Amino acid sequence: MIRENLLEVRNRIGDTCKKVNRCPDEVTLIAVSKTKPIEMLQEAYNEGCRNFGENKVQELVDKYEVMPKDIKWHMIGHLQRNKVKYIVDKVAMIHSVDSLRLAEEISKEALKKNVTVSVLIEVNVAGEETKFGVAPSEVEELLRQVAVLPGIVVKGLMTIAPFVDNPEDNRRYFAALKQLSVDITKKNIDNITMNVLSMGMTGDYTVAIEEGASFVRVGTGIFGERQYVI
Ligand SMILES: *Cc1c(COP(=O)(O)O)cnc(C)c1O
Repeated sequence: MIRENLLEVRNRIGDTCKKVNRCPDEVTLIAVSKTKPIEMLQEAYNEGCRNFGENKVQELVDKYEVMPKDIKWHMIGHLQRNKVKYIVDKVAMIHSVDSLRLAEEISKEALKKNVTVSVLIEVNVAGEETKFGVAPSEVEELLRQVAVLPGIVVKGLMTIAPFVDNPEDNRRYFAALKQLSVDITKKNIDNITMNVLSMGMTGDYTVAIEEGASFVRVGTGIFGERQYVI
């Protein structure tokens, strides 16, 4: 099943890139493996996946320990400051930085472990009350504060769009995140680049690619529906 799903997702990414004249190399597929067992991750790995996304620290660390070491792990979920220390030297990127205090903690732990951590600023473009992320109007101020911290480097922006039936409804949010990254790039802030836009999930990743996504985070479309045990 995973093999067929991956084939379809990769084909859709390729077709979408062709449609909007983007090079498929510009789009990285992150296989969002949260709640899924190691056997399924291994299958995706065997099919060529090297970027995996997790949203819980403990689960990411457990999977990191047993999976091959050439995997790039992406922390895509809300991150508590007291757990930063467990992942700074294990992740390729933290997508969910939404406060100066969190960025300071990442900086502190990165220095201790002698690593530099790549991060994205999570932006709540749709202004949903239930979502984490900073308001678009607050992104620049946060960036200027994070830019001067050692051991942490901002590579771009991330957003989680609303859950909608029609992916077209999210196009404006993806376009808004892209525009925000363009506006910030023009300000030439030291130590800040805006090359990465992490946006688009199973329901809307083709629209996100059309609007400039460089990372798409696909879970259900690769691994099937998730079952949450409470
Ligand atoms: C779970 C999750 C995804 C993947 O969602 P699907 O709809 O299953 O593709 C993407 N991004 C984040 C931040 C997530 O938590």
